[in-house]
Amino acid sequence: MPVLDEKLTTIYDEVLRRNPGETEFHQAVHEVLDSLGPVVAKHPQYTDAAVINRLCEPERQIIFRVPWVDDKGKVQLNRGFRVEFNSALGPYKGGLRFHPSVYLGIVKFLGFEQIFKNSLTGMPIGGGKGGSDFDPKGRSDGEIMRFCQAFMTELYRHIGEYTDVPAGDIGVGGREIGYLFGQHKRITNRYESGVLTGKGLTWGGSQVRTEATGYGTVFFTHEILKARDESFDGRDVIVSGSGNVAIYAIEKVHQLGGRVVAASDSGGYVHDPSGIDLELLKDVKNGRRERISTYATESGATFVPTGKGSVWSVKADIALPCATQNELNGHDARTLIDNGVKIVAEGANMPCTPDAVRLFGESGVTFAPGKAANAGGVATSALEMQQNASRDSWSFEHTEQRLEKIMRGIHDRCLETSEEYGAPGNYTVGANIAGFIQVADAMLAQGVI
Ligand code: GLU
Repeated sequence: MPVLDEKLTTIYDEVLRRNPGETEFHQAVHEVLDSLGPVVAKHPQYTDAAVINRLCEPERQIIFRVPWVDDKGKVQLNRGFRVEFNSALGPYKGGLRFHPSVYLGIVKFLGFEQIFKNSLTGMPIGGGKGGSDFDPKGRSDGEIMRFCQAFMTELYRHIGEYTDVPAGDIGVGGREIGYLFGQHKRITNRYESGVLTGKGLTWGGSQVRTEATGYGTVFFTHEILKARDESFDGRDVIVSGSGNVAIYAIEKVHQLGGRVVAASDSGGYVHDPSGIDLELLKDVKNGRRERISTYATESGATFVPTGKGSVWSVKADIALPCATQNELNGHDARTLIDNGVKIVAEGANMPCTPDAVRLFGESGVTFAPGKAANAGGVATSALEMQQNASRDSWSFEHTEQRLEKIMRGIHDRCLETSEEYGAPGNYTVGANIAGFIQVADAMLAQGVI
């Protein structure tokens, strides 16, 4: 990893000491600090008031036991987390992830990223994240419901419209939000719509929330293309993953005239040179909850199982990693570069390793970090909160226009900030600095808390 400025090195060393073993969190912190050298040189108040040190320490970390009973009557045990990272700009806001890889370090990396992402949206939301090491794979609907109820039975005391507003992430979609909301209502005897986002359309949810992260990533990529007088027309695109983010990224690429030629899940990837058949993919993944290999069998596309090849070996102009953290390493980046990739925009949170990001920079590939490119999901959550607060609901068209405008705003702010701080066109520098300054100024104004 690149060497940091002296003051920032001291802060980073302290983060390493206080958070042993949490490698993903270290990576996320390092990536932000790496951009802040010119900021601390210009504005000593941020280091003088220990703003950066305070930003790296969550305001509150909650860890709890989640016992529940499976279909066989056996008691199962999981661990639940909610890290309330920073509330300078608004109530803590961020998703819940249910995946066996979840531990405190993952939740902290996600929560840390969320602070800057939420700041970039320009909406009044702080940063937080939560989840559990629960593995939803192979669980029945009844088991999912009982787990969600058990999880909320503890979480409810920590959240609220003005305190902390969770939503979905990997393993938590509309079904899980429904069970979580139901249990919250039952325990508190309050129909508090603004306590969770990602709700169903007939009970307080927002149009476009489901599509927002994927659509937003593609809107952001479209802005990059437009800034150089280009478009999606005739472009081949790789979208890794096939969950909520990936599916709606594919949809928007196709609407804007591009062609998605590959997608994946943890079992492997499909290569479909004539373009992914989205209706079939939606039916396989969302309707039947089956593996992407079924898509290949039914569409005639090529399927390559995990371990026998990588989705990043497919030739494309644009790559949108939309699966999970560290899914694209230096070796993959080299392959993409050799195949002529021009733009990489992160739909997932931190899917590119630091090596990959460095190689893209050195090779002139435009790289858009997740905290900017995938902010459309949480931005639309904030629009859901606005609708809940005013007991209103907006049309699909209106909400999508708002999303597009927000993504354009983030894009332009990243670009302007990158120029102001001497790294024109570097979206990572632009996103980190623009996101940081807004939070840091609010923290300074609110005193030492
Ligand atoms: N989990 C999403 C993200 O990574 C969305 C969070 C939200 O809507 O609160 O930004």
